[in-house]
Amino acid sequence: MRAFLPFMLRAGLTALVAANTACAQVAPQMANAGVKPNIVIVATGGTIAGAGATTANSATYQAAKVPVDKLIAGIPELNDVANVRGEQTFQIASESFTNDRLLQLGKRVSALVKEPGVDGVVVTHGTDTLEETSFFLNLVVHTDKPIVVVGSMRPGTAMSADGMLNLYNAVVLAGTPSARGKGVLVEMNDDILTGRDAAKRINIKTNAFASAWGPLGMVVENKVYWFRAPVKRHTMQSEFDIDMLTTLPEVQIVYGSGNMAVEMYDAAVKAGAKAIINAGVGNGSVPNYAVDTLKKIRAGGVHVVRSSRVADGFVIRNSEQPDDQYDWVVAHDLNPQKAKILAALALTRTNSTAELQRMFWEY
Ligand code: GLU
Repeated sequence: MRAFLPFMLRAGLTALVAANTACAQVAPQMANAGVKPNIVIVATGGTIAGAGATTANSATYQAAKVPVDKLIAGIPELNDVANVRGEQTFQIASESFTNDRLLQLGKRVSALVKEPGVDGVVVTHGTDTLEETSFFLNLVVHTDKPIVVVGSMRPGTAMSADGMLNLYNAVVLAGTPSARGKGVLVEMNDDILTGRDAAKRINIKTNAFASAWGPLGMVVENKVYWFRAPVKRHTMQSEFDIDMLTTLPEVQIVYGSGNMAVEMYDAAVKAGAKAIINAGVGNGSVPNYAVDTLKKIRAGGVHVVRSSRVADGFVIRNSEQPDDQYDWVVAHDLNPQKAKILAALALTRTNSTAELQRMFWEY
């Protein structure tokens, strides 16, 4: 089986010495030809390591099959832009990520970025929960070195596979000085997104990832172009630290809909949830017939965080629901799965509703 058939013509990549930091915000950045950055690719599986039976299988294949060394060997162009080594941390489809695996991955990435000889880390990941992992790493790894999370929508065995270019772009980005201090980044389909709010918005198609607030920039032909920078707290400025964490509290999501069963909230509590993320309709709203259930749950010590099942926009506090009165939290613009990550981390540090709400505004 051929992983990442190198069908691209070699671009004759003659890189320029990186511009200074002031220029970095306006000028495209290239990897440094004189001193190649040292990049570690931490592989976890997913479609980017997937393999299908035929080249026509773009959507039917097995994820997490191709070892990282084979992925790297399939893109000789990587050697032009970085000294790359691979580590196979997991070989799984990302729907099977658990809190334990998140912690294990976070600790490994944290250890790698502490190595003086490592300039950046790329994490290859299945796309299904890539948004959870990228936000988690963004919140817990204290570094200004670039950490870039990347996946693909088609296996390397398919026609027009996207993983090869995505991985190449991710390595370019991780080795580019101007990517430092911008938090954990997601590189997909040429776009650079912040790990904070990159989300899988379309399945099947290669433009799967987007943020409601737009990409930060793009990687095109070995050059990094920036257009925005994240304003929320992350990495170096975060109060969460992977090196201090051994476990994460249980948080579960309850999905809102018309005529919903309020027993779903009770089931989350029974499952051990210390916070429930309400993936509510519209403004994260709770139906009138569920309010008493959630009030009881809150009185029992479990937090209620109102997020929304709507992809864009953000939840307004004390608008349709009196959050102050009910002692609830709003998730700001974080989608339910992102809110789940932040709530779990927040609960490792506080049980105060005011503190939880502060964290949801700040991160
Ligand atoms: N479900 C698998 C995963 O998330 C494959 C999907 C993908 O990577 O695009 O790892």
